[in-house]
Amino acid sequence: MARRAASGSGPRPDVLVVGGGLIGLLTARELALAGARVEVVDDRQEGAASPNAAGMIAPVAESITDQAFARMSIRSRDLWRDLAPALERESGMSIDYDDSGSLLPVLDPEGRKVLDGIRARALDLGEAARDLDRGELAELVPDLRPGIEEALLLPGEHRVDNRLAATAAAAATRHHRRPACGGREGAC
Ligand SMILES: Cc1cc2nc3c(=O)[nH]c(=O)nc-3n(C[C@H](O)[C@H](O)[C@H](O)COP(=O)(O)OP(=O)(O)OC[C@H]3O[C@@H](n4cnc5c(N)ncnc54)[C@H](O)[C@@H]3O)c2cc1C
Repeated sequence: MARRAASGSGPRPDVLVVGGGLIGLLTARELALAGARVEVVDDRQEGAASPNAAGMIAPVAESITDQAFARMSIRSRDLWRDLAPALERESGMSIDYDDSGSLLPVLDPEGRKVLDGIRARALDLGEAARDLDRGELAELVPDLRPGIEEALLLPGEHRVDNRLAATAAAAATRHHRRPACGGREGAC
């Protein structure tokens, strides 16, 4: 098994996190922030999701129908407002975080119906959602493919570069590493 020590080698960790995708690495950062000595192990399986994810932090566009899960996803989205700058500060690198919203183009009449459903769900959840007409759309995205004349704007959605965020989370975990206390292993 390949090992990756996120908070340094040396004394035995207090917590071993199994899986070094974005979730494992962010968990490790939280634990390190709380003062735990943490190590992340990963066997680098084919098909790990984080390196391939689009990084959309888009609880409304994802069309989540379960209300409780949708609310949890919105709460999770909100956490990124503080998490993203903290990760950048602690790691010293950009994670390409953007909170300017999602734009869902209407491609055909069926798409219009889908987007009407998403707009209704957004408003139901207290999230902003607004139809853009041809003029507003052209102003926002001047080089949009011809033929696309309407879109739904979800201004509350975010995105991040998933790979950069994972790298930053590992660096942030090292940043919070508890200083080694000399002497015998396990002495601190
Ligand atoms: C194509 C694609 C696009 C996606 N786009 C989005 C998106 O836009 N927005 C979004 O929110 N989500 C998206 N997702 C989901 C997204 O990947 C997850 O939100 C997140 O990245 C998952 O992180 P994770 O750490 O849980 O899983 P992973 O990144 O899969 O990490 C799990 C890690 O655990 C390791 N592992 C597994 N078993 C063991 C073991 N027994 N021992 C040691 N290590 C082990 C694996 O090697 C892997 O590195 C997408 C997923 C895919 C596949």
